[in-house]
Amino acid sequence: MITVNDLTKIYNKGKKNEVYALRDVSLRIEDGESVCIMGKSGSGKSTLLHMLGGLDKPDSGQIFFDEQEITALPETPLSVFRRENIGYVFQSYHLIPELTVRANIKLPAFLADKELSDWYFDSLVEQLDLKDRLSHLPSQLSGGQQQRCAIARALINRPKVILCDEPTGNLDSASAETVKKVLFALQKLYRPILVIVTHDADFTVLADRTIRIADGAICEEGCT
Ligand code: ADP
Ligand code: MG
Repeated sequence: MITVNDLTKIYNKGKKNEVYALRDVSLRIEDGESVCIMGKSGSGKSTLLHMLGGLDKPDSGQIFFDEQEITALPETPLSVFRRENIGYVFQSYHLIPELTVRANIKLPAFLADKELSDWYFDSLVEQLDLKDRLSHLPSQLSGGQQQRCAIARALINRPKVILCDEPTGNLDSASAETVKKVLFALQKLYRPILVIVTHDADFTVLADRTIRIADGAICEEGCT
């Protein structure tokens, strides 16, 4: 379970261009839950996802993964925690251009020094339809294939949490459709917490719950 208490993030604090990106955000996400976060551009969605993923620190408030407060962890244990517990999927894929699909997918397992079962690798590759693309470089793939590769990479260490920031934002509608389907199929199979920041309203149907944010705060029912 993820618990967020009164999270506030201020960029350029004390300066003329100060921005309250998050204001006192509190929420709870249960194990195995899929949650869609929606809101206008600039509303604070990516900031919230970065905080949840331990990629940036809030100015105040706490985030707990079960009993562990990740906002209290120093950088080194935090990076270990991220590696072992969180998978990330970004709008622009963030694959390593010099590495093959196979090496990109395996990279988090290698970095975490984790034993990787061939069976699990093969089944991920099969489900993401990348079997005949494993020796390709990212530049030789379509956008949809690159994002499926990024999803395999996010899942390779069997993380408790998968965080996605606009995962279909760069894709044509057919590829977006495939990515949505496979993301939720894998979530149902492996049951990580799945948090998806998106503009794509289709996700609200697929996810267990939708959280809307506006101007850095969670809004109640009915807000746009
Ligand atoms: P969203 O993902 O919903 O579009 P963001 O979380 O990226 O919104 O941004 C929320 C607000 O914080 C926006 O006003 C944005 O301009 C500002 N912001 C985001 N990142 C930074 C940054 N690194 N430095 C300064 N301001 C930022
Ligand atoms: Mg964003």
